[in-house]
Amino acid sequence: MLENEEVIEGWVTNAKVVGRIAFLEVMDDLLLKPVTVVVKKDEVEDEVWRAATSIKLGSAVRVEGVKPERVVSRKGREFHARALQVLAEPVDLLPIDPTGKTPASPEAYINYRYLALRLPRYRAIFLARSTLMSLTREYFHSKGFLEVNTPKIVGAGAEGGATLFVVEYFERKAYLSQSPQLYKQMLMCGVPRVFEITPYFRAERFSTVRHLNESWGLDVEIGFVDGLEDVLGVLDDYIRYVTRRVNEELGSILREQGFNLLPPIKKIPRYTYHEVIEILKGLGFNVRVGDDLDTQAEKVLGDYLEKQGVYAYFITDYPWEAKPFYIMKSEGGLSKSFDLDIRGIEVASGGQREHRYVELLSNMREKGLNLEDFAFYLEAFKYGMPPHGGFGLGLDRLLMTLLGLHNIREAVLFPRDRFRLVP
Ligand code: ATP
Ligand code: MG
Repeated sequence: MLENEEVIEGWVTNAKVVGRIAFLEVMDDLLLKPVTVVVKKDEVEDEVWRAATSIKLGSAVRVEGVKPERVVSRKGREFHARALQVLAEPVDLLPIDPTGKTPASPEAYINYRYLALRLPRYRAIFLARSTLMSLTREYFHSKGFLEVNTPKIVGAGAEGGATLFVVEYFERKAYLSQSPQLYKQMLMCGVPRVFEITPYFRAERFSTVRHLNESWGLDVEIGFVDGLEDVLGVLDDYIRYVTRRVNEELGSILREQGFNLLPPIKKIPRYTYHEVIEILKGLGFNVRVGDDLDTQAEKVLGDYLEKQGVYAYFITDYPWEAKPFYIMKSEGGLSKSFDLDIRGIEVASGGQREHRYVELLSNMREKGLNLEDFAFYLEAFKYGMPPHGGFGLGLDRLLMTLLGLHNIREAVLFPRDRFRLVP
C-alpha cells in the first residue's frame, strides 16, 4: 500500500455507473452516512472496473484507495478506489432494500435487524442506545455508586407471583428475575450506594407498544437517605445529565434522521398523585382514587403537560394499596413512592423503602405474601439496615421517549414479546 492509502470495509448500499465512473455507496464503520467510493475506469485495472460495475447491492467489500483532499461530494465522505475486493456476495435477494428507498414491514426490520443496521435510521437508534448505556455507567460511577450484578435465576419474585417465568432448576422450581429489587435492598445492609443495568423478565400477556417480556432496566438503591427527596434528587440529576449529553453528542445527527428528540430536561416538576387526579378531573378524565394511573390517563396527562413545555415529571405519594410491599407507608393511606413519566409514558418507579423489620413484616402480611419465601431477604433487615430508597428505570422506555419512537420494539435489537421468541 502507498503512503497515503487507506482501506475501508463495509457493505454496498447503492451503486451507479455514469459513463466511465462508478459510484458505490459503502456503509462502513459505525457512522450514519455511507462513504461514496469513486471508481474511475481510466485509473484502475480492468478487473477492478469490472467488479465495480457488476457489483451486487448488499455485498461486503474491501476497498483500497485515497481520500481526496477536498471532499466534493454533496453526500459527505468520498473515497477514490485503486483496488476493490468483493468479500461476500448475497446469495439471495435482500429482504430489506439496501438503499432504504422502499420501506419494508415493521416485522422485516426486526427479523432482519442486522440488515436494518446498515440503514442510517437503525444505526442511529442503536448508536443512541449504546451512548445511553455508557453515559449511564459513567454517571453512576462518577457519583460513587458500586456497579453490581445480582442473580437472574431466583427463588422468589419481588412484584407478585403471576408475572414470573418458571425455570426448571434441578429438583426445584425457580424463576427468571423480574427485577433486582430484593437483592439491591439486601445490599443496603453492607454498601451505601449501588446500581445495576439488568434485564427484567415479566411473564404478563402484554399487548402494548411499551411492554416487552424481556426488557432492560437501570436499578439504583441509596442508603442512609433522609427521605424521598434524596432519591428524587438523584434521578432528576441523572435524567438532566443523559438528556443533555445525548443532545450534545448526537443531537444533530438524530434530528437529521427525523427523530423527535427529547430536549435537554431542566429541573423535573413534582405533582402528587392527588394533584394529578385533580388535573385529570379538570380535563374530564375520571380516575378512581386508589387505582394506579392507567395508560390512557398517563397519556392524557402527558399531552396536557407537554403543551406547557413539560416533558418529564414526577408523580409522588401514591396510595399504598397501589404500590408493592417494600414501599414505606405514609400518612393517610399514602406511600413514599413516585413514578417518573416522560411524554406520557411511565419510565421509572421508585420510593423510600420500609427498612424497619417489624413494619416490613406487617406490610408483607397485609399484601398476603408468604413470608417463608422471603426469609433470605428479611434476614438482611435484622442487622442494622439503614433507611434507604431507590428506583427501577426502564432503559428501553427511556430510549423510546428520548427518540420519540412509537413502539418499544424499535428500541431493542431482538425484542421478546408473547409472539416473538426468534430471532
Ligand atoms: P407498567 O405499569 O408500565 O407496566 P410497572 O409499574 O409494572 O410498569 P415497574 O415494576 O415499576 O414496572 O418497573 C420499573 C420500570 O421498568 C418501569 O417504570 C418501566 O420503565 C420498566 N418496565 C417494567 N416492565 C416493563 C416491561 N414489561 N417492558 C418494558 N419496560 C418495563
Ligand atoms: Mg411502576
